[in-house]
Amino acid sequence: MTGGDRITGKTVVAGVVGRPVAHSLSPALHNAWLKAAGIDGVYVPFAPDAHGFERLVHGFRGGAIRGVNVTLPFKEEALRLADRVSDAARDAAAANVLLFEPDGRIVADNTDGFGLLKAFEVQAPQWSADRGPVTVVGAGGAARGAVAALIRAGAPKVFVVNRTLARAEAIAHALGAKVRPLPLPHAAGALRDSTAVVNATSAGLAAEGALDLPLDATPDGCVVMDMVYKPLETPVLAQARALGRPVVDGLEMLIRQAEPSFEAFFGRYPPADVDVRALALEALGL
Ligand code: NAP
Repeated sequence: MTGGDRITGKTVVAGVVGRPVAHSLSPALHNAWLKAAGIDGVYVPFAPDAHGFERLVHGFRGGAIRGVNVTLPFKEEALRLADRVSDAARDAAAANVLLFEPDGRIVADNTDGFGLLKAFEVQAPQWSADRGPVTVVGAGGAARGAVAALIRAGAPKVFVVNRTLARAEAIAHALGAKVRPLPLPHAAGALRDSTAVVNATSAGLAAEGALDLPLDATPDGCVVMDMVYKPLETPVLAQARALGRPVVDGLEMLIRQAEPSFEAFFGRYPPADVDVRALALEALGL
């Protein structure tokens, strides 16, 4: 039994908490892995109201369920509610994984940075973080996690380019001298020196305004990554492709951040023989 096909007395429960959560691809990924691995477990969505996250989390204390992934808008609140915090979650100032220990403690982690680097490894294997400076566009929670992961992976310098400079400066203040904050109109100077560009703004989302990024300033071979995956081919990725730059998409990051989450919930790494990207593309209608 598996992935919710049959519930037994020993079924391990995990899930994802977000608002909205109905669009989340995580249940499809985790339940496919559970099924393939033959694990007695199930992964379900939870959508508390805007003020209900804390109540929900306290309800899970003591291990009513094993753990949850946390998505927008609760990642910062998740970190605050934890009793123990991993280095990755502390550096990102946000948690995308909460584990509920039997003794009542809540442990927070963040696997988004891992997912980002793994997505580069899969889709741009020629690139490595230690090759030179990287530009991260955006200064929200996702950007901060990306900057921390890139520095940990050996990036010598990370330009943080943001519409609101103060938020980029706050990341530099938190993560140290390798971080260089810049306002968006100065992006070209950063892009010229970069081996990779990560769009960590929500600007690629259909509902947000467009992002005017001078990608033609990037050198040949500069890898362009967009965290947004709806649409999968964002305006930033389309522009990069037109310039002949290698690209990494947000869907690969989403899939890769899920792998260590699955291991934390269910005690083993997901089986490699499930084509979860194909499942995710189908769920996105692609
Ligand atoms: P957030 O905290 O709301 O930050 C949003 C960022 O986007 C801010 O830096 C904001 O600039 C900037 N921004 C928004 N619209 C803009 C525009 N029109 N022009 C320029 N900048 C704009 O969001 P977040 O949590 O960091 O998430 C960012 C994106 O990453 C979201 O789309 C999220 O879905 C995605 N994400 C994807 C994955 C994945 O696995 N693929 C994981 C995590 C996050 P200001 O500071 O000036 O407002």
